[in-house]
Amino acid sequence: MKLKFTFLAASLSLSMFTNAQQLRRCASDDYLKQLDMQYPGFEQSVKSLSNQISNDPNKKTRAETITVPVVVHIVYKNATENLTDDYVTAQIDILNKSFLRQNADTTGLRTEFKPFAGKANIQFMLAQTIRKSTTVPEFTYSGSPNGADVVKVTAAGGSDAISPDKKLNIWVCDLGGGGGGELLGYAYPPPGLPNWGGMQFPTGALDGVVIDFMAFGGTSKLPKGNVTWGCKGKTAVHEVAHYLGLRHIWGDDNGACQGDVGFEDDGIGDTPHAGDMSNSDCNKNKNTCNQGAGDLKDMVENYMDYSAESCQNTFTKQQVSLMESVLNNQRLQIRIPLKIDDYDFSSNVAVFPNPADDVVNVGIMNLNYTTAEFSLMNHLGQTIQAEKTDNSRKSVTFDVRELPTGIYFLKIVIDGKYAHNEKVLIQ
Ligand SMILES: [Zn+2]
Repeated sequence: MKLKFTFLAASLSLSMFTNAQQLRRCASDDYLKQLDMQYPGFEQSVKSLSNQISNDPNKKTRAETITVPVVVHIVYKNATENLTDDYVTAQIDILNKSFLRQNADTTGLRTEFKPFAGKANIQFMLAQTIRKSTTVPEFTYSGSPNGADVVKVTAAGGSDAISPDKKLNIWVCDLGGGGGGELLGYAYPPPGLPNWGGMQFPTGALDGVVIDFMAFGGTSKLPKGNVTWGCKGKTAVHEVAHYLGLRHIWGDDNGACQGDVGFEDDGIGDTPHAGDMSNSDCNKNKNTCNQGAGDLKDMVENYMDYSAESCQNTFTKQQVSLMESVLNNQRLQIRIPLKIDDYDFSSNVAVFPNPADDVVNVGIMNLNYTTAEFSLMNHLGQTIQAEKTDNSRKSVTFDVRELPTGIYFLKIVIDGKYAHNEKVLIQ
């Protein structure tokens, strides 16, 4: 979760800077404090985390890139907040480039950190954009329970999650300034991860990522109040990484270093020890935990710091391993299946309208295949109409205007061997 700002104009005054320090980049540390959680021992947490990564059952068998379907909810109260599709497309592109390490600004990573830089086998695909007008002035973050989560509830002026167990839902709205500063975003990690001390987080309809409209879309440089943020779409990268299990690199421990009372860590072995967060700047001399000979400075280029978005360009190899492990375990279901064996037909085959009197459309979502055969059969099992597609066309349409009313069956066969049946009522 991230609250983030960047100053665009050199003319901004020091008093403005003080004001801007009230901005909150992300709310994950707030969440920790407000729950007043007691963490178990750090060493045990790291050990458990290492076990999860090394015992990942799918890691050795999966070479392909994992694709995560994304539903974007634009919850707006005016035209400025109703960001156009360009913002959505730009944000998905930035997520992809950042996770796949294809972003041009990786050249900004200091030489000493290059051996640690990781490329994630994770990409994101826009499945749906939902626009919802609201009269809620601001969605105000308030810890646990979190008041901003009403953005995820249609009846409360937000927009209900779409299949949150199978898709990454991202809400874009005005997160406002409650709780001590302008908030740029927040996310819920999977519950129970060892590097989060086994903390429990909201799941189901509340699972996902929330981004302030000012920070969404990469090219957003919209004025808000007297502060201008130089967001480059990295807020969503940071928040999605929380959603995939990563913590802040300084461990949310208010400046403690290893050996200090209250020390916490991100549970990641190849991020240098950092005592405290960056302050939306890019101070490459910053070294909040100096461990003597061989010590590395703070990795301000890491997406999980609070450095300026223009400064952030890297996940480390072990951060990548954890996120991929989460996608193979706690969030296994949100991956678009690479194999038909993993496919859940019941939630991914769409037949509409049903009942039908004109046409019936059949769509297959979230699956890569070679061929799909569709047969519309009557109650005697006789094929009335048939269609065949390849992977480039995900849906077919049957004209049913001439058919007698009654119950029909739609048979779908994927790659010649995996069959699924749906009942269709023609009236
Ligand atoms: Zn954060």
